[in-house]
Amino acid sequence: MNQWMTEQIHAAHSNRIEPREQAYYDALFEKSKARLESLRAEAPLHEGMDIHAALAEEGMDRRDFMKWASATTATLMLPAMFQPLVAEAAELFNRVPVIWTNLQDCAGNTEALLRTSAPTIDELILDVISLEFHEVIMAAAGHEAEAQLEDAMATFKGRYILAVEGSIPLGLDGQYGVKGPHAETYLDHVRRVGADAFAIVAMGSCAAFGGVPAAYPNPTNAVGVKDVVRGKPIINLSGCPVHPHNITSTIIHVILTGQPPALDNLMRPRFAYGYRIHDNCERRAHFDAGHFVEEFGDHGAKHNYCLYKVGCKGPMTFNNCSIIRFNDGANWPVGVGRGCIGCSEPDFWDKYAHERPVAAGVRMAPFGGVEKSVDYFGLGLLTAVGIGIAVHATASIMAGKKDEENA
Ligand code: SF4
Ligand code: SF4
Repeated sequence: MNQWMTEQIHAAHSNRIEPREQAYYDALFEKSKARLESLRAEAPLHEGMDIHAALAEEGMDRRDFMKWASATTATLMLPAMFQPLVAEAAELFNRVPVIWTNLQDCAGNTEALLRTSAPTIDELILDVISLEFHEVIMAAAGHEAEAQLEDAMATFKGRYILAVEGSIPLGLDGQYGVKGPHAETYLDHVRRVGADAFAIVAMGSCAAFGGVPAAYPNPTNAVGVKDVVRGKPIINLSGCPVHPHNITSTIIHVILTGQPPALDNLMRPRFAYGYRIHDNCERRAHFDAGHFVEEFGDHGAKHNYCLYKVGCKGPMTFNNCSIIRFNDGANWPVGVGRGCIGCSEPDFWDKYAHERPVAAGVRMAPFGGVEKSVDYFGLGLLTAVGIGIAVHATASIMAGKKDEENA
């Protein structure tokens, strides 16, 4: 995690503690410390997996690791006193059994973790996690792989985290997606393997909400995990793909506290999805000033103007990628001139993945706005947020025009 990324995360999460909150954090600190002590007393689930060895292999030292721990503590919205515990929780990743199953998906979340020339600390930590079963990357296949799954489920009953990647097709009695020697449907599979899990983490938007397979006309009647599994803690890590830092931080939280982090109404961790892209976007000043890219390659595009009118859905999207960015904080889609397509929101493919604004940005404002050209494509999809943004955008455009007149 580079210096810039660490500073951005700290800036976004001001950790000033009110005196009445201190007692809560003190109690949480003691509870977390006790949990880590008992985990440390257990042997690693497998030999040879150690985060510090993995870091050394990549030329990173303890200072890099502690910087990462500091940023992750801030990401989790915990006060700085938790930093040593967060570091220790990362060291104990090899005590957490994870079973990762792939359903109806492109394996893009797995790819995002694997395809890296210079792994980040998050990726290295995920490398040393005790991944007991992952059919995409494991060497075993067929009956051998099946036996490995059954063995992991029995050995770690009630303790493993089930990571689900992909949606669950319900059409044709579930026959669109089957696996294993008995052609178990994805629906039966996720319910059976989920039944003995400690918690289920839906990795990516397909597992969380159905994602791209559920896009119109949704031929397989695809749904997310939360639609078919009951009675288990479910954490949705939406995104296409989910950011590795959010995977690591979520698991760190579970290790530290023994419970899922606070979730929003879509069952996503608030620490990661409590932010609107638009509110932490470096182009926001241009939005406020009414400076928009009108088409790709124009003057505005060359001067990093706001991408709202060429389809950015940052105003409707909740995710922290505008803060933590991708590739170790190097950049993110809006940073390279491509609007956000709302990949962490339900139905994003139908609602947001097009290069025009939901509300067309130039809708008639209630105070007699001057703009007339409503884009009817998105009109039926207007949301309260969309309408609000449209009005704001119109006001911004008017302000921009006035600036031009006065110039
Ligand atoms: S609309 Fe998009 S590009 Fe414009 S400020 Fe919001 S998030 Fe940034
Ligand atoms: S910028 Fe938008 S579309 Fe891109 S990863 Fe972030 S939430 Fe998803």
